[in-house]
Amino acid sequence: MQQYDIVVVGGGMVGAAIACGFAMQQRKVAMIDPSTPAAFDPHSRPDLRLSAFSLGSERLLRELGAWPFIEKMRLTPYIGLQTWEAGQTDKLKFDCHEVGQDHLGYMIENRIVQLALWQRCRELGVTLLPWNDWQLTQTPTHATLTYQQQSIRALLVVGADGAKSTVRQQTGLGITGWDYRQRCLSINVKFAKAPERITWQEFYPSGPRALLPLYDDYGTLIWYDQSARIKSLQGLKADALKTQIQAAFPALEGEFELLDWANFALVRRHVHQYFKGRVVLAGDSAHTIHPLAGQGVNIGFKDVATLLRIFKEHSLNEPFETLLVKYQRQRKCDNLLMQSAMDLFYKGFSHPHSLVKTIRRAGIIVAEHAGVAKTKALRYALGIN
Ligand SMILES: Cc1cc2nc3c(=O)[nH]c(=O)nc-3n(C[C@H](O)[C@H](O)[C@H](O)COP(=O)(O)OP(=O)(O)OC[C@H]3O[C@@H](n4cnc5c(N)ncnc54)[C@H](O)[C@@H]3O)c2cc1C
Repeated sequence: MQQYDIVVVGGGMVGAAIACGFAMQQRKVAMIDPSTPAAFDPHSRPDLRLSAFSLGSERLLRELGAWPFIEKMRLTPYIGLQTWEAGQTDKLKFDCHEVGQDHLGYMIENRIVQLALWQRCRELGVTLLPWNDWQLTQTPTHATLTYQQQSIRALLVVGADGAKSTVRQQTGLGITGWDYRQRCLSINVKFAKAPERITWQEFYPSGPRALLPLYDDYGTLIWYDQSARIKSLQGLKADALKTQIQAAFPALEGEFELLDWANFALVRRHVHQYFKGRVVLAGDSAHTIHPLAGQGVNIGFKDVATLLRIFKEHSLNEPFETLLVKYQRQRKCDNLLMQSAMDLFYKGFSHPHSLVKTIRRAGIIVAEHAGVAKTKALRYALGIN
């Protein structure tokens, strides 16, 4: 039976980052994922699954040696972020220069980050196993993964197999969660003229609507609304959807062509306990968050950085439960804070009561002029606090 120090289950962005990091610590690492990301084609249109990566995530990807691979494919820096309430002129604006940077982060397709990390995993000698339907068991001394007639052993198993994590289920780790009873429609568009590198979000009582600028003349519109509304928009033909978009996104400037669109459910989840025995969770397998401020994978990458830092220079042959306790203590608190902040935003902006409206209008004006406090909040969101 093959013996590994670490087996990572799930080779998405979070799992592949963990596999790279542990391989860089000279551990013997295997990564299990039944699906291999499709190769990059420089002439392809943008994928619908993309994320806003914070400066903290960029730093981690650079440390892991994946950044040069991303740069060889494609990425879009953005320099500003604006948010306001529909029908109001006061805006909350963030600019990269406020935090002494030349960008606030990057819009990058998830698959490109994943591909870069997989390339780095191969360079580092991580064993890639395309297994599905494996079984996980554990004893006090090791964990075993069995697939068909094969089994591998690990001193530590990391579950990074996404929101519906099988590792979580097979380990019996419970979650609390709820459906926001909203969905979001992601719509890729090609503009006649490239948009400014500023991402914006306009809040409506039915949910926010946002623009994410992409490379060349491309951009992604995100439309949050009641599930029934989003599903009906999803079913429209391009011309009819475009008419709806033109009415719903008054801040959108210039002519554009619709390319693709897809809708996503919005579910908050948080695991009660991040580890059990020799199994630990990271990324979406441990927590999912409302995506309105683009923090999901960024907090997943904070899990990665914390796990790697805590285990650095610790032999896995020594007991490590105290390290897992430390990891859980640090990440659970931070992730809960971010989830709750997103909910506060989401609920605060969708509440129709006139008093709440007045408070949030005042809140935007105060926040815009909050000086050091505004910069601190921005640094936290960017992962550079
Ligand atoms: C509409 C939307 C917009 C978003 N925008 C942003 C954003 O702007 N910024 C941001 O930070 N986050 C954003 N997110 C969140 C972000 O996409 C997720 O947090 C991130 O993809 C989670 O990465 P992960 O690696 O933990 O999980 P996943 O990306 O789900 O990867 C899980 C991996 O595990 C594999 N897997 C699944 N089951 C098994 C199994 N049984 N065995 C082995 N492998 C398995 C899968 O094939 C996959 O490769 C958004 C989410 C949504 C829905």
